[in-house]
Amino acid sequence: MQFSKLKLNGFKSFVDPTDLIIADGLTGVVGPNGCGKSNLLEALRWVMGETRPKAMRGGGMEDVIFAGTATRPARNFAEVSLTIDNSDRLAPSGFNDSDTLDVVRRITRDAGSAFKANTKDVRARDIQMLFADASTGSHSPALVRQGQIAELINAKPKARRRILEEAAGISGLYQRRHEAELKLKGTETNLSRVEDVVEQLA
Ligand code: ATP
Repeated sequence: MQFSKLKLNGFKSFVDPTDLIIADGLTGVVGPNGCGKSNLLEALRWVMGETRPKAMRGGGMEDVIFAGTATRPARNFAEVSLTIDNSDRLAPSGFNDSDTLDVVRRITRDAGSAFKANTKDVRARDIQMLFADASTGSHSPALVRQGQIAELINAKPKARRRILEEAAGISGLYQRRHEAELKLKGTETNLSRVEDVVEQLA
């Protein structure tokens, strides 16, 4: 899965629409302290379905919206769009009908956030699965935060295993298993209710 463009609008310090072309090979982001390097990485995590405000260094998800400065008013929404090269049609069915896939996440104050894939409304879960199955996503070990290496060294074996599973692209399977188990439990409850009703009628 090759990312080709990241667009930000009103996301954290990127108040003006900003396009970043992601070329083949290694990409480096350099700049002085506080210029927004980590915000870029967070924008990537966010558009891939991050749900934890803490992972965005905020108290609530709306903290990703440009909060204003002495000279510029705060914005009411933030939007991040990630363009993925899909010419090899590697995206799963439902997503793989064009050469590029545009995943857009938009958050509006007091209205929460929503996702679109090639202009169609999609669920957060669909986006999270899309990236998890491609061994990437908001939890991907390929996105290394500041301080993360020290955390890895000190991590317990269970936490390290989770990182290996993310890298192997099987974390999406765990999510599916969990959902299947919940469905099974619901069906078992319904069945026992039906049995009670049948017993009462007999
Ligand atoms: P360093 O090299 O020190 O790690 P950095 O280049 O990674 O810095 P970031 O941490 O990405 O910089 O950006 C921090 C800047 O983003 C700060 O100036 C902060 O005020 C600004 N910022 C963060 N959230 C918002 C927001 N919601 N609205 C406006 N500005 C924000």
